[in-house]
Amino acid sequence: MNLILMGLPGAGKGTQAEKIVEKYDIPHISTGDMFRLAIKEQTTLGKEAKSYMDKGELVPDEVTIGIVRERLSKPDCEKGFLLDGFPRTIAQAEALENLLSDMETSVNYVLHIDVPQDKLIERLTGRRVCPECGATYHVVFNPPKVEGKCDNEGAELIQREDDQPETVKKRLEVNVEQAQPLLDFYQEKGYLVTFDGDRNIDRVFEDIDKKLGGLVR
Ligand code: AMP
Repeated sequence: MNLILMGLPGAGKGTQAEKIVEKYDIPHISTGDMFRLAIKEQTTLGKEAKSYMDKGELVPDEVTIGIVRERLSKPDCEKGFLLDGFPRTIAQAEALENLLSDMETSVNYVLHIDVPQDKLIERLTGRRVCPECGATYHVVFNPPKVEGKCDNEGAELIQREDDQPETVKKRLEVNVEQAQPLLDFYQEKGYLVTFDGDRNIDRVFEDIDKKLGGLVR
């Protein structure tokens, strides 16, 4: 099963991705993770990607399409894959169509986890982290035992710079602008399936699972 996962930051994409790849035993292919690994390993790709990522820009299409092409040719993708963070542009989406058609396959579904923006702002700005051990909390959904203090270290929890309300709003805006043309592209192709992501994790997964169950013989 060839899947693409889409959703704004905070929509719960990461959590659903974990559940999908575990149940259906397909590789989780996140271009962001691939770039971060390349940076850590200081490869040529990593050096190139870093200059864009540091500025918050997209890595050029040729580079990104190149790494996806290479990754999809690996044997573990034969039974399918879950793409996450790719495609981000129409050029990437078109390249993917061609790539899959060369491999005599195609996308089955684009799974879109939809959460209203005001809910995403609440989710993202409520995040707190422990500066000492990195544990994460949420003021409403996953509060520490003692308000403002880490359960492990007792350290004062902080709010990351990119979780501040203004930064979050800006980040969402940019993401909506990027995602909308892709949602339209896949809607037109008939691949798009939208799930209400404003529910608990298990309920969202139940619906995704029902949809994917139809692909498994
Ligand atoms: P992510 O973890 O998906 O938010 O990706 C982190 C960063 O990696 C992005 O801000 C981009 O700089 C880069 N990146 C990830 N995926 C892509 C993509 N499909 N096209 C271009 N750049 C990407």
